[in-house]
Amino acid sequence: MRHFKYTSELTSLVYSSFEDVARSQPIDTQALRQTIIKLRQQPLDCLSMVTKTDAFVMKMIGTESIVLICARDVETGNKSLLHLANFEQGTISREILQQQLVKALDEFNINSTEFEEPVAKTVHVISTVTLWVIIISSLIVLAFALFISRAVALGLTNREEAMKALAHSEARNKHLAYTDSLTGLPNRNILDHTINTAIKKAERSNLQFAVMFVDLDSFKDVNDTLGHTVGDQLLITMATRIVEALRSNDHVVRFGGDEFVVVSDGFESVETIDYIAHKIADTIKQPVKLTNSGKDSYITASIGVAYYPQNGLNATHLLKHADVAMYQAKQAGKNQYKVFDEQSALEQNRKLRLVDQLHHAISNNELSIAYQPIVRLADGMTVGSEALLRWTNSDNETISPAEFIPIAEHSGQILDIGYWVLEQACKQCKEWHNEGAHQHAMAINVSSHQLKDPHFTERLKSILEEISLPASFVHLEVTENSAITEDPACVATLHQLAALGTRLLLDDFGTGYSCLSYLKDLPFHILKIDKSFMPADNTIASTIIAMGHEMNMPIVAEGIEAMPCYAHLKALNCQYGQGFLFQKPVPAHQFDTSKYYECFASPSN
Ligand code: C2E
Ligand code: MG
Ligand code: MG
Repeated sequence: MRHFKYTSELTSLVYSSFEDVARSQPIDTQALRQTIIKLRQQPLDCLSMVTKTDAFVMKMIGTESIVLICARDVETGNKSLLHLANFEQGTISREILQQQLVKALDEFNINSTEFEEPVAKTVHVISTVTLWVIIISSLIVLAFALFISRAVALGLTNREEAMKALAHSEARNKHLAYTDSLTGLPNRNILDHTINTAIKKAERSNLQFAVMFVDLDSFKDVNDTLGHTVGDQLLITMATRIVEALRSNDHVVRFGGDEFVVVSDGFESVETIDYIAHKIADTIKQPVKLTNSGKDSYITASIGVAYYPQNGLNATHLLKHADVAMYQAKQAGKNQYKVFDEQSALEQNRKLRLVDQLHHAISNNELSIAYQPIVRLADGMTVGSEALLRWTNSDNETISPAEFIPIAEHSGQILDIGYWVLEQACKQCKEWHNEGAHQHAMAINVSSHQLKDPHFTERLKSILEEISLPASFVHLEVTENSAITEDPACVATLHQLAALGTRLLLDDFGTGYSCLSYLKDLPFHILKIDKSFMPADNTIASTIIAMGHEMNMPIVAEGIEAMPCYAHLKALNCQYGQGFLFQKPVPAHQFDTSKYYECFASPSN
């Protein structure tokens, strides 16, 4: 556009300056020069605006001639300026200058015309390309935006689904974590929560509730004899029965193994729990078919009850105390329910402590044996002794065998302890034989648990062989209460022991439930009347002694504390006696094997 403006300017200058006015008029060379300079400068300005991309596009579409055209403008402009200078110096005439300027004008115009087409083409191409670039890049941006938004939407959907799946699996995990897979009942993980909820409810409503520990009796036998599949089936059946026996607001949880815990809903009177406990016990007791034989089996349960708030203020205590009560129900003979009792709990704690301490009793040298003489009543002669176990525990407390022997029997520790006593007492007997008491007999108490050990006779035999003590000097005392006939293994051991040559005593006779055939069928040699029948001025004592005579069984009376008792026994022809009247149990070094209790033997006494 400017090019056109300047050429018009030059045209008017050339024609007005040279034609209108008389030739004598001066020519405005200054104006001409400036216009020519502008015309020469203009293509250079245009070219300076051409970018590398434009140049590339121009080359691609063949419009690079623009550069040439511009160069021609520059050349024409330079020539015209030269003519002007020549005119001013007077080397060319006014007419020649005009001709040259007209010629230059033509060239400028031609260049201008030639310039239009490639410029237009270039502008067109560049604008088209730019347009396409814009369109394509917009499309790309749009596509990209679409892609991103799609991806984001997809991501969100996936995330939502993932969250849902996560929530679902969390719910499933939660369900698994709190459910017992076998019975489908809630498991012990939920118990704290259940009890705590019951506590809050009871606090609000001022009611009580109970935690009950239900443990199937002898479930282990079912598992051991009929297998785990039958055991599992039994658990499922019992779980269903317990649930059905409860009210809808009570909770039942499988605690583990054959143990269930019932958390009752609030109640006002203790009779409610009494009723529920009986209902549970009754439903469990109902016959159950465990095998395909069609035969009914029977199982019972021991139930322990702890009341809130009397027996515990939190879940831990309530559960512990219900468990203790259940244990008490087991101890009391199973198939019953017991309410937690503080005193019994203390006793049980003590038992547990003793069991713990008993483990180290032998290795810590805490056990010892006291010996009490057994006297022939006719002449006051010491004929033997009874070995009585003593234990001073690590707390320096002396525990009576009447307390710790049943505990050791229950925990199974009696076997080790029993062998220790057997060995010590036999050795002591041998020692006394060696010291001159050649006929001294050693009475050793033996628990029925020891008799169940199939190796018992063998071990005793090897002890005796090792120390060369004839078996006949060993008198094994078995208490009448130990129900030995119920176990064939015990009976077998008794026969083996009799065959070995040991003498067998039935201890505490008269206090147990042995019938007389017991005495006929088992190889007992001696009867020991329990001290509860002393001072023997009663029919039971006299009957036992008379029976002993009839059966040709010597009688030992234990617990002789006073002279009248001794006199009675002697009058009844009781052969042997033992008691504080003669001597209390003493350590071996204080025992006098040759002691002759002469005063008692004298008829005048
Ligand atoms: P036991 O076998 O009937 O022993 C007699 C118990 O009566 C002993 O009690 C003895 O000290 C006590 N005694 C002796 N004379 C008199 C008396 O004149 N009056 C009174 N009131 N008591 C008298 P201890 O030593 O406390 O033993 C208690 C029970 O512990 C024993 O009763 C026995 O059944 C058991 N026992 C003791 N040592 C052992 C043992 O080594 N093994 C086993 N399995 N049981 C043992
Ligand atoms: Mg005894
Ligand atoms: Mg006794």
